[in-house]
Amino acid sequence: MAVNLEAYQKLLRELDEKGVTLVAVSKTKPAEDIRALYEAGHRDFGENYVQELATKAGELPADIRWHFIGHLQSNKVKYIAPFVHLVHGVDSEKLLREINKQAQKHNRVIDCLLQVHIAREETKFGMDETELEAALQSQEAYPNLRVCGLMGMASFTGNTEVVAKEFRHLAALFRKYEAKKRFTVLSMGMSSDYKIAVAEGSNLVRIGSILFGERQYPPLG
Ligand SMILES: *Cc1c(COP(=O)(O)O)cnc(C)c1O
Repeated sequence: MAVNLEAYQKLLRELDEKGVTLVAVSKTKPAEDIRALYEAGHRDFGENYVQELATKAGELPADIRWHFIGHLQSNKVKYIAPFVHLVHGVDSEKLLREINKQAQKHNRVIDCLLQVHIAREETKFGMDETELEAALQSQEAYPNLRVCGLMGMASFTGNTEVVAKEFRHLAALFRKYEAKKRFTVLSMGMSSDYKIAVAEGSNLVRIGSILFGERQYPPLG
């Protein structure tokens, strides 16, 4: 299935009005789908798998801003460190250390978001509040990394009140640190729940299915 440009324009108008950034999640989709959206003017794309991202980045225009939104393993940071624009799912001290190290090698500062566990499900990644506080305090040890804000995923449920409550919790944490830590990005919301996320204060949404159609195989995690 090709890119739905009509849905893209509609979504963009809706988000622009509220000052919300759209990251087009292109995981599992072919490079030509990304190119179609690129030609419509889009520059922010999100991918979940390191190998897939590295391959696509090599094939596509260099001015694309690549967001890594999956669960990043420390031993794979090196493959995306030269070019990644923003790493969304940072959830351990080990990963912070490795990102800083690889960024140093490439003489750059890598922007990151700390992932907070807000869902009811055990399986979703992310820090709890104590780990978040500790990670924010350790920042000075990592001069080649900049924590720009927070990212989170709500429970996978049709219960919109539960989803709203989880996003509200993340937004409150974001505001708690916003001034002191100079946070600028609150990444929350996907195709199924972005309206709730935006209503609760998100300023960046990660959207795949609405733009590219359903994925042929499920995300690997
Ligand atoms: C796949 C994915 C998305 C996009 O999901 P859609 O439901 O297709 O919009 C957003 N965020 C993360 C972390 C993802 O893995």
